[in-house]
Amino acid sequence: MRKAPAMSDCCCHTGADVPTYRCEKYGIEMCDACLRCKDPELYCKFRSACMVQFLEKERSDEQRQKSEEG
Ligand SMILES: [Zn+2]
Repeated sequence: MRKAPAMSDCCCHTGADVPTYRCEKYGIEMCDACLRCKDPELYCKFRSACMVQFLEKERSDEQRQKSEEG
């Protein structure tokens, strides 16, 4: 097994060298483009402090506001 790199390394883009957010539940890093909870329906004890969930929600709120503003 390769040791986890110190630099950010997206779970879907190996070697992408981009800022990533950590999913504590699965112990994986996700870049901005891949930012999505793997199991949004499932209970997650990290959710209240999860950046993945937070940014995903923030993004959908933004989209909703935009469409409401029309
Ligand atoms: Zn990615």
